[in-house]
Amino acid sequence: MNTQTRALRNFDYPEALLFDCDGVLCETERDGHRVTFNRTFKEFGIPHEWDVELYGELLKIGGGKERMTHYFDGVPDTEPWKSVTDPNERKELVKKLHLRKTEMFLELVYEGALPLRPGVKRMVKEALENGAKVAVCSTSNEKAVQGIVNTMLPEFADRMPVFAGDIVPKKKPAPDIYLLAAKTLNVNPARCVVVEDTHIGCSAAKAAGMRCCVTKSIYSEDEDFSRADAVFDCLGDEGDERVKFHQLTTPGDFW
Ligand SMILES: [Mg+2]
Repeated sequence: MNTQTRALRNFDYPEALLFDCDGVLCETERDGHRVTFNRTFKEFGIPHEWDVELYGELLKIGGGKERMTHYFDGVPDTEPWKSVTDPNERKELVKKLHLRKTEMFLELVYEGALPLRPGVKRMVKEALENGAKVAVCSTSNEKAVQGIVNTMLPEFADRMPVFAGDIVPKKKPAPDIYLLAAKTLNVNPARCVVVEDTHIGCSAAKAAGMRCCVTKSIYSEDEDFSRADAVFDCLGDEGDERVKFHQLTTPGDFW
């Protein structure tokens, strides 16, 4: 490749494609967390099941322990609150449930039971084939994020670094995780394209000076994405693409 062509190419294509994990690689909440809350309830003989819609409501309560407590408080005449009435015992029970739930969630991830969203694998492949760097940037549990990449994208995992967990002090919407990824990958933030599914995640990408492509997820579809550079329902599998890697140029088909 001569210098001129390379310069043009460098201008045209993103240097890096950075994926959020939850809601972008997988519908983690619907297919992972919700499912393992329910399995935990079943294992403990708790007669409750959170369906997709109810779980969407419960997501307004941040934190798994807080979410369970809030829900049990609303149905105090049924188990487990019916028999466990002491506030300290309730706290202990919720702690135990949450530990078991976290364990089950990781098991589910390692089993490869969290399906990838349409088009994720295709886009990762296209990006790598076109010389872009690919990474996953999430402020969720590092083990879970790495587990998803290892089990669901095994053929690309060694070329997909994961930046996750408490690697940065400030979580999204702070730009820190994206800036750290750009610095580590040695790429210009302005030449990075981020794929996010939430308003908070999109804000983090924009604050990092990156372009942001939103793929709406089941629990984020009504959020405000006015700052996003492009919004899709998903990336789309081969033959059904909403966007291809070579369209992520500057200027591109839809930026
Ligand atoms: Mg997300």
